[in-house]
Amino acid sequence: MNIEFSAEDETFRTEVQTFLKEKLSPELRRDAERTTTVFADKDVAMAWQEILVGKGWAVPAWPGEHGGTEWTVTQKYIWGQECAKAHAPGLIPLGLRMLTPVIFRYGTDEQKAEYLPKMLSGEHYWCQGYSEPGSGSDLSSLKTAAVKDGDDYVVNGTKIWTTHAQFADHIFCLVRTDPNVKPQIGITFLLIPMDTPGITVEPIITIADDHEVNQVFFDDVRVPQANRVGPENEGWTVAKYLLEFERGGGGATPGIDESIRDLKVIASREKDGASALMDDEGFASRLSELEILNESLRFQELRTLEALTKGGSPGAGSSLAKNTSVEISQALNMLKMEAVHYYGVPHANKISLNGFTEDWVGPDYAETVTPRMINSRAASIFGGAKEVQKNIVAKVVLGL
Ligand SMILES: Cc1cc2nc3c(=O)[nH]c(=O)nc-3n(C[C@H](O)[C@H](O)[C@H](O)COP(=O)(O)OP(=O)(O)OC[C@H]3O[C@@H](n4cnc5c(N)ncnc54)[C@H](O)[C@@H]3O)c2cc1C
Repeated sequence: MNIEFSAEDETFRTEVQTFLKEKLSPELRRDAERTTTVFADKDVAMAWQEILVGKGWAVPAWPGEHGGTEWTVTQKYIWGQECAKAHAPGLIPLGLRMLTPVIFRYGTDEQKAEYLPKMLSGEHYWCQGYSEPGSGSDLSSLKTAAVKDGDDYVVNGTKIWTTHAQFADHIFCLVRTDPNVKPQIGITFLLIPMDTPGITVEPIITIADDHEVNQVFFDDVRVPQANRVGPENEGWTVAKYLLEFERGGGGATPGIDESIRDLKVIASREKDGASALMDDEGFASRLSELEILNESLRFQELRTLEALTKGGSPGAGSSLAKNTSVEISQALNMLKMEAVHYYGVPHANKISLNGFTEDWVGPDYAETVTPRMINSRAASIFGGAKEVQKNIVAKVVLGL
């Protein structure tokens, strides 16, 4: 296999680097570097999205006629690599990366015309209403009910762990439309404006002191039937298709490459006795194991990108990629904690990081280590828990 980049690819890389140098302001880069949560803050992500939309580079994976870049697999990979190297903010994936493949495949022409341009322009900001108290891994047991009444559904129930619901103006939701059949059959996929009467949002503050997730309540919420995606009672198929993109539609390795680079800088400056931590055999060997795992993930991701370019979907391999990327990221965050040891204590969470007014003790690179480590624990739960991904791989990939 030839894994060298061609001369054309290197020209493209230079074009990307020039763009990032010109358009990614030091302020945006700094905001991205200080992000310790799963998603960048809304204003940071949206500011970067606006710049990318201006250039026509916001949604590389979309079909060309809807604003996609029609880049090759390699170009998409280079784009991801250079954005990670430049420390560009991540765009919020809920609409742009997760919901859009669903709209392209299952949406009506009216839904495409209504939702895609507004998602791109930032006029619409989405959140995901899948999980409920008691229905997470066992998602098909969900109880939020939608009952037909004239041209509408009337929705009652609650969704939990809803990321960025406090910012969102729309939620895509799984609701139960038939309680009398096998759980997977009676589910429907609805698009709901968050300002519809009867919706309330309660914050959930995490152990990392972040306000990322919420509980959303639906009390006699009227949703036009025209807001249904796909046929009634067939929402499970739509839901599963979306999850493939949630778990691994893009690439985690460029970000992990940067995290490895950061850790090497830390470990070459921090001491282990008289010598640098990087020279400690045990530390270096743990780091090498993660680098090797990251290389194997890279090829898995390139295979996924290739499949997407040919019109396919990530498939169950996305579960494998999700687990591997999370395992590497969590282990890197732990190694960083070990490397900065006491310097990680003052900023034990995001609030202490942003509210700190004393003189900072320790090197800059220690600032975000603890809040990031704590926040990253959630990664083996959201998007489908680690054990559940293993079950999928065992069944679908290994045929066990
Ligand atoms: C930070 C964060 C953000 C989130 N954002 C969203 C969001 O925006 N929208 C949304 O809809 N949901 C969101 N979620 C919810 C997430 O998808 C669920 O937490 C996840 O699916 C697990 O469900 P649960 O919390 O009900 O845990 P449970 O399903 O109760 O699982 C508890 C434990 O049991 C294990 N387990 C369960 N079933 C099995 C099995 N069959 N075999 C082996 N082990 C099993 C699990 O792996 C886990 O360790 C978010 C969660 C977090 C933590």
